[in-house]
Amino acid sequence: MSSVNVNRIRCQSNGVCEALVPEVFEIDDDGALRIKTDRIGPEQLGQVSLAIASCPTQALSLVHD
Ligand code: SF4
Repeated sequence: MSSVNVNRIRCQSNGVCEALVPEVFEIDDDGALRIKTDRIGPEQLGQVSLAIASCPTQALSLVHD
């Protein structure tokens, strides 16, 4: 299993990842990115990898257990 790490200094809360995979990424009411699950299953890996590659500030990374 994998999880997603957010570099809070790099993240600009522009919502690109949320638009791609709203099941995993959410900009909360305070404007901070929230990762909705701490376990990325194999069925979500493709979508999440795309979101990571699409982040304009390279704030996201995949962590493998
Ligand atoms: S795409 Fe990147 S900069 Fe935008 S909210 Fe997601 S992690 Fe933050």
